[in-house]
Amino acid sequence: MKIYFYNTLTRKKEEFKPIDEKEVKMYSCGPTVYYFAHIGNLRAYLFMDTLRRTLKYNGYKLKHVMNITDVGHLVSDADEGEDKMMKAAQRENKNPFEIANFYMNAFFADIDKLNIDKPEIIARATEHIKEMEEYVKQIIANGYTYETEDTIYFDTSKLEKYGVLSNIKIDEQKAGARVDFDQRKKNVTDFAVWIKAPENHLMKWDTFWGKCYPGWHLECSAMGHKYLGEHFDIHTGGIDHIPIHHENEIAQAKGYCGKNPANFWMHVDFLQVNGGKMSKSLNNLYTLDDLKERGYEPLVYRMFNFTSTYRAQINFTFEAMDAAKVALGRLREGYLKHKEGTEEVPAEEIQNYKDRFLEAINDDLNMPVAMSVVWEIVKQPKKSKAYQELLLDFDRVLGFDLEHYEKEENTLPEDVQKLVEERNNARANKNWSESDRIRDILIGMGYTVKDSKEGTIVEK
Ligand code: AMP
Ligand code: ZN
Repeated sequence: MKIYFYNTLTRKKEEFKPIDEKEVKMYSCGPTVYYFAHIGNLRAYLFMDTLRRTLKYNGYKLKHVMNITDVGHLVSDADEGEDKMMKAAQRENKNPFEIANFYMNAFFADIDKLNIDKPEIIARATEHIKEMEEYVKQIIANGYTYETEDTIYFDTSKLEKYGVLSNIKIDEQKAGARVDFDQRKKNVTDFAVWIKAPENHLMKWDTFWGKCYPGWHLECSAMGHKYLGEHFDIHTGGIDHIPIHHENEIAQAKGYCGKNPANFWMHVDFLQVNGGKMSKSLNNLYTLDDLKERGYEPLVYRMFNFTSTYRAQINFTFEAMDAAKVALGRLREGYLKHKEGTEEVPAEEIQNYKDRFLEAINDDLNMPVAMSVVWEIVKQPKKSKAYQELLLDFDRVLGFDLEHYEKEENTLPEDVQKLVEERNNARANKNWSESDRIRDILIGMGYTVKDSKEGTIVEK
């Protein structure tokens, strides 16, 4: 069956055909590891995962690279401000390499909890400084840069067209000067590719231009090129990457070898919270652990994401998470019931479900439609192993790990029951410190603790 993806580059849905018939080559912009990933970031990796799984389901092998940005990403994407890693290092009084290791491992733990498949190649920026140096030297040799005292800039006016993804017009930006920009740059859209490190800068390397560090955009160009070559199939990221980071990647690749590096550019839209932006100052920035504390296991968040397509904004509310929690429970229960079923199902019926499911995912990863097929199967009054096998087959794309799900007994271990009783008594006596103490013990034992009118509710 044909696959269609929306391509930001052409602004339309196009049939996807890989350059190499059997193997899809793909690059995803990965995290900047200066803090814990929030659930908005994780939406981006769930999209990446659904794309991977869909391609695999269609029989393709994958060569997929994801970078870990552990140097060079400045606080503002427009290449201004401090390096995010350095800022985090000051905040936590550690060196930036420790920061990177810590948050990279936290990120891997998060994606693992969401059952996100790891790309075949994980590329850390700091381990590819040499490749970046070679790459930038070629861009310089090709005449696409200029130097200031401490920075080598990419001269975007040297390209036939800069801004192919977002249709930016350099002249308009220059003439209108709507944006305040660093006067050392010749054009607003020019960006740093190689930067001289100030004396106190911890992340720096000996290079052809002295002690330097690379610009953020360069890492993706150099690492994509190293592992996937000059031209590959798909490049992914969040929509915030369209106007700067990805335009600059394309600019660099053109400066390097004259080619746009990827055929398809795919972008995931943002997660909103209560209809607005997620931010620390609004106190609505959640991590997976925050969700867990509120009683939502990570796979509930996966289910929540399937209520929207990746190209639409999705609005996070706890009501929607409650609905996703119920839905995940129904899916598991339906799966287990079919597992025990004995009825026959005609082969054509199964094939029909398969076709509809495949059509949905191949239509630019339309998960809401794919899930509607899943719900029809779950709700089938006939219980049959054929349905169970079908759900298991679809789970290769859905990623709920149904195969390993076994119904947990509702009965709590005796020691936990005893603690719950003690906590209920403490609360009845308004002994809040005791109630908090017991809550902490329960959390320490791996339970989430909620208060309701009926008393303490715990869940593993
Ligand atoms: P960063 O670690 O800041 O480089 O961001 C990692 C990824 O998360 C990028 O692909 C961003 O586009 C994406 N991202 C950041 N905020 C959100 C959000 N609220 N919703 C969806 N994706 C986001
Ligand atoms: Zn990137």
